[in-house]
Amino acid sequence: MSRRTPKAAVKRMAEFVMAKTAPLLWRTRDRSLVVLMYHRVLPPGDSRLELEQPGMYVHPSTLRLHLVALKRHFQPVQLDHWIQAARDNAPLPERAFAITFDDGWSDNFEHAYPVLAAENVPATIFVVSDMVGTGRLFWPERLGTLLRQGLARHAAQLYSLSEFAWLRALDAQIPSSVEELNPERLDRIINNAKLDDDATLCARVDDMASSLGDSECPQEVELLDWEQIRKMVRGGLISIGSHTRRHMRLSDALTIEQLHDEITGSKHVIESNAGCEVRLFCYPNGDATAAARMLVAENYLAACSTMPGWHSVRGDRYMIRRIAVHQDITGDETSFLARLSGWI
Ligand SMILES: [Zn+2]
Repeated sequence: MSRRTPKAAVKRMAEFVMAKTAPLLWRTRDRSLVVLMYHRVLPPGDSRLELEQPGMYVHPSTLRLHLVALKRHFQPVQLDHWIQAARDNAPLPERAFAITFDDGWSDNFEHAYPVLAAENVPATIFVVSDMVGTGRLFWPERLGTLLRQGLARHAAQLYSLSEFAWLRALDAQIPSSVEELNPERLDRIINNAKLDDDATLCARVDDMASSLGDSECPQEVELLDWEQIRKMVRGGLISIGSHTRRHMRLSDALTIEQLHDEITGSKHVIESNAGCEVRLFCYPNGDATAAARMLVAENYLAACSTMPGWHSVRGDRYMIRRIAVHQDITGDETSFLARLSGWI
């Protein structure tokens, strides 16, 4: 028996209609490229999912389902090859798709790469050059870990510590125990925190860590190392792109020297360690100032944004649109095809 709310039932019906009709409409769109944006690929029950934001992952079986469905309607291409061909007015497939992964998670090697290889689908992984192989984490994941540790030790008293007090302003229902800390609440806290710049947030998370002592240690290394990257590059199916040096959002808070360092510095680090040419860039959080875009254009073939939709042959190749896919909204073929249509 269905337990769906009326709103969910209407949404499901809309998805069903779109999934049936959208592929017919796609046939009229020639020389278009669908670029998919993934982050993590983790199986159900994996401990790394406990505090991960819902928008950050799919299960390996879902990735396989997506690739099989995509291949029925589109031709798989390597993103830089399609962009290069479009730039050179070379022949293009009628409808193509390209796969991208942001951040360079080690689960991409562990769980996505075998699926991509089995389906023979190429992909681009955008890595954060100075985080590769370090065992460090991005501030949102560190924040989740520290919040859990702090709540386990201090419960609601945690926020009376000056290093944690700023979190109170981010959520009216700030969790007062480990049990109350779930991915949805953490998602809200992280999204509200993004009003501040990355340097401020990293400093606050560092302060939180030192106030709790040395206890912050991720159970597993969560980001790719250079050996894994080189192995995938040698396989020929995976391209590596740059996602900056430190995952800094490219905002007005950064000086021109910092922009240079993040944009061109990362390219050099990746090329010398991965042994491949880096032709694509990806803006962290999709943020890009005019100065950042100009520097990217001087140093890369193209760049991915987080703007939704399909990339057309006449589109700005330094602001490639992508369709974000994650487990909670694309867990079956109907919802995935509806998502691809770009209407929901
Ligand atoms: Zn990112």
